[in-house]
Amino acid sequence: TGRLVVVGASLAGLRAVQSARRAGHEGPITLLGAERHLPYDRPPLSKAYLGTGGEPDFFVTAQELDELGVEVLLSTPAEALDPVRRVVAAGDDRIAYDAVVIATGAAPRRLPDLPELDGIVTLRTLDDAAAIRDRLGPDLDVVVVGAGFIGSEIASSASAVGGRVTLVEAAAVPLVRAVGEVVGAAVSTLHGRNGVRLVCDARIARVHAASGRVAAVELASGEVIPADLVVVGIGAAPATQWLAQSGAALHPADGGLVCDEYLETSLPDVYAAGDVTYWPNAVLDATMRLENWTNAAEQGGRAGANAVLPRPSRTPYETVPYFWSDWYDNRIQFVGGTAADGVDFAEGGPGTERFVALYRSGDRLVGAATLNEPRKIMKLRRLIGGRAGTGEAIALLASMARPAA
Ligand code: FAD
Repeated sequence: TGRLVVVGASLAGLRAVQSARRAGHEGPITLLGAERHLPYDRPPLSKAYLGTGGEPDFFVTAQELDELGVEVLLSTPAEALDPVRRVVAAGDDRIAYDAVVIATGAAPRRLPDLPELDGIVTLRTLDDAAAIRDRLGPDLDVVVVGAGFIGSEIASSASAVGGRVTLVEAAAVPLVRAVGEVVGAAVSTLHGRNGVRLVCDARIARVHAASGRVAAVELASGEVIPADLVVVGIGAAPATQWLAQSGAALHPADGGLVCDEYLETSLPDVYAAGDVTYWPNAVLDATMRLENWTNAAEQGGRAGANAVLPRPSRTPYETVPYFWSDWYDNRIQFVGGTAADGVDFAEGGPGTERFVALYRSGDRLVGAATLNEPRKIMKLRRLIGGRAGTGEAIALLASMARPAA
C-alpha cells in the first residue's frame, strides 16, 4: 500500500485510479494533469461540441475524486521520472512513488513548414475546441488539413454550422493506415456527398496571410483556397518527451512507451495505458499502439490494477481494437486489425448508406468495418475475439439480415 502516482488526468489516467481502488489499493494516490480541467470526454470535442454546441462532458467531480482519496494536481505537467530515486518531478514537487501509471496520451502533430499564424490551429483539448468553436460559423472558409478521423469530423462539424469546408489530404486515399484502402476510399465518399470538397494527393506549398492572420492556403498544384481558419489534423504523437532522461524504452517510430503484456514499461513498477502505449496484443499477435477511447478506458483500468496488485495476481491485457467516428450523421465503426489479405463488402459498398466490410487473413476474420450498422459491429467484434473464420461472419450477417422491403 505505497503511493500510486498516475501521470495524465484524462480517460486512461482516471480509469487507472478508479481501478486501483477497486483492486483494493488503500495507499495514497496522486493524479497529475497538465491541463487545467478535471478529466473530460474527448470524442465529443470534434462532434457535438463543435457542431451543435453543448457543454463539455466531465467524467467526475472534484468531490468524487476526493471521496476516492485521490490527490489531484491540475495544471501540473510531470517533467521527469527518476527510476532510481523513484520520484516523479513536477515544478518544485518531487513525488515519491511505489508504482506509477503513465497515461499522458498524445499531442497533435504540426506541419513543420507551416508558420505560427493566427487562425492555424490543432484540436486535442477542450481549450482547443472552445477556441475553434468561437471562430466557426456560417460563411466561414475553413480548410482542414488531413482527412483522417478527427479531420473528417471537424470538416463535418464545420459544414454543419454553415462553413465552406475544404479537406486537404496528402495521401491518394485517406485513412489507409486506420482502415485500409478499400474502406478508406468508401467512407471518404461521404465528404462529397455532404457538400465538403476533398482534395487528395495534395501538398501545401505555403499559406497566405493578411494582417497577421491566415487568409488562404496555396497547394503545390498552384490552387489557392481561401481560409479564415485552418485546422491541422494530421495525427498525434505520444507525449513522452518528459521521459527522455528516465531510461524508459521508447518506440523508435514515435517515442511511444514500450510495455510488456502486463502494461509494465521497461522500468520496474512503472506502467502505461492509453494512447501513449505500445504493448503486445495477443488476440491479434501484434505489438501495437492504439488511439481510441475504448482501449484507453480498458487499458487504463488494467494498468491501474496491475500497478497495485502483487505481481503474480496481475493479468495480461488483450483487446480486439474498436473505434467509432461520426461524420454527417453517419456512424463509422471498425473492429480488429487491418493486416489482411483482402477486404470484401459483405453488405452494401462504397456509396451506399450502410455497409459491412470484412477483413480476412487466410480464412480467418481479422477485422470488420461498418457504416451505420451498430448492432452488427459488436457481434463481429466477438467473432474476431473468438478467432472465427469469415464463413461464421457471413452466416452471422445472413441471420441478422433485414426482411426484404
Ligand atoms: P489523452 O486523452 O490524450 O489524455 C492525456 C492527458 O495527459 C492529457 O490531459 C494531457 O494534457 C496530459 N498530459 C500530457 N503530458 C503530461 C505530463 N507530462 N504530465 C501530466 N499530464 C500530462 N476515439 C474513439 O474511439 N472514437 C472517437 O470518436 C474519438 N474521437 C476523438 C475526437 C478527438 C477530438 C480526439 C482528440 C480524440 C478522439 N478519440 C476518439 C480518441 C480518444 O479520445 C483517445 O484515444 C483517448 O482520449 C486517449 O486517452 P488517454 O487518457 O490515453 O490520453
